[in-house]
Amino acid sequence: MRRPFSVLLMLALVLVANGTAAIVAVPAGDWEIPRRQMVAAIREDVIATRAYIGRKTLRDEVLAAMERVPRHAFVPQEVMAAAYENRPLPIGHGQTISQPYIVALMTDLLEIQPGDAVLEVGTGSGYQAAILADIGASVRTIEIIPELFREAQARFKQLGYVRVQSRQGDGYYGWPEAAPFDGIIVTAAADHVPPPLVRQLKNGGRMVIPVGHRFGVQFLLLITKSLEGNVQTRQILPVRFVPLTGEH
Ligand code: SAM
Repeated sequence: MRRPFSVLLMLALVLVANGTAAIVAVPAGDWEIPRRQMVAAIREDVIATRAYIGRKTLRDEVLAAMERVPRHAFVPQEVMAAAYENRPLPIGHGQTISQPYIVALMTDLLEIQPGDAVLEVGTGSGYQAAILADIGASVRTIEIIPELFREAQARFKQLGYVRVQSRQGDGYYGWPEAAPFDGIIVTAAADHVPPPLVRQLKNGGRMVIPVGHRFGVQFLLLITKSLEGNVQTRQILPVRFVPLTGEH
């Protein structure tokens, strides 16, 4: 039987991805087994969707990051018990932390190398940014809802994700001063690919973005820019994301 969180809540030593240790107040329950089960569920989903993604497995470093980053530290207390279920969860303000399989797949599609500069649009809980930082990316992430921005910023600091810089604003316009980026990941569905983001993608860079109707069909797109600057788009699989908001 699951022990109540009030019993489990204690100061825990969390070793974070960048090799530093931070003392943070998170439940010190036995999260390792659920986290491994989550990664097993991701592997199964990858096999089930291999016809879309063209592969039977994801990169080892992506799966290793999914096994390291404490998803329970990115969700509200009320849903913490479900933190390692392979599904999206509510994070308040009508928003969600994405399904772990989708987080892993989008990360994999970016083909990040350590030291790459990556832009995320849609910080939400901060979990996706933490996964990117865990595999060595230097991450800039933008969130439009001020409260979520502040919560995620505090979380990055508390958990020691020093490779993540966050700001509040409309990510449709990207982060021009820090461009160009090796990778761009958009975690809310747009009805078209934002031209400023395409401009801010490096030659040789990759962007993943869900595009489609806010209440209808959406597809995850992989956009690649060749070394000569030519842009190609590949449709990966149907998805369901919350909409990209803002005035465009
Ligand atoms: N990546 C997040 C995570 O790991 O928790 C989940 C993202 S949630 C599915 C989508 C997020 O995009 C929401 O937090 C939403 O407020 C944000 N968003 C929507 N439109 C945006 C915009 N124009 N610019 C920046 N963030 C936006």
